[in-house]
Amino acid sequence: MYTAIIERYLENNRKWAADKQAVQPQYFEQLSMGQEPEALLIGCSDSRVSPSVVLGAELGEVFVHRNIANLIPHTDLNFLAVLQYAMEVLKVKHLIIFGHYGCGGVKAAMSDTCFGLIDNWLANIRDVMEKYKDELNAIRDEKARQDKLVELNVIEQAKNLMQTSVYRKAVERGDAPRIHTWVFDFHSGLIVDLAKETVYEGRAEGARSEGQRMGEKG
Ligand SMILES: [Zn+2]
Repeated sequence: MYTAIIERYLENNRKWAADKQAVQPQYFEQLSMGQEPEALLIGCSDSRVSPSVVLGAELGEVFVHRNIANLIPHTDLNFLAVLQYAMEVLKVKHLIIFGHYGCGGVKAAMSDTCFGLIDNWLANIRDVMEKYKDELNAIRDEKARQDKLVELNVIEQAKNLMQTSVYRKAVERGDAPRIHTWVFDFHSGLIVDLAKETVYEGRAEGARSEGQRMGEKG
């Protein structure tokens, strides 16, 4: 027996498909012919940050990998397979690490509470906390400290991405995609580009220079 929300999903889907077809009769036929996305986005699983919605992107425009807190652990075979396919088959030109302020994963990593299995995943964020503990501890306001960790986490995941064999091989060939470090802000609905903007006082110069350095790779 379907619950009300499931019925609504399916009803919305039927309406959406009909609307698409009404505007563009060939839409689904073209969609079925293949995809040529120019970007791979690595985002958080949070239901409020659906990439296509936030970016106003059409189906077929963004290749997406999501997990809790947009992490790129060195040994995540799931991600490595996605990255290889995106870079070597789809030949994407951009790799976007897409974090967001108010990330539950980041908040959980900062708390002293034990959550069970997920703590092993969140340990990746705790590594970032340890690395930047002096900088983070210097921020008195808890919300500002969380936001800072969200940003640092995105920067660190970009560094992890750059260490993957697939990316390193592309750098050697001279055709590595450009890496972008973005954070979505619920309050404005806008994306902060960490390579370009300073949001909080005391943001690491490193965040900017790292972004620029990564930008140069493309
Ligand atoms: Zn999140």
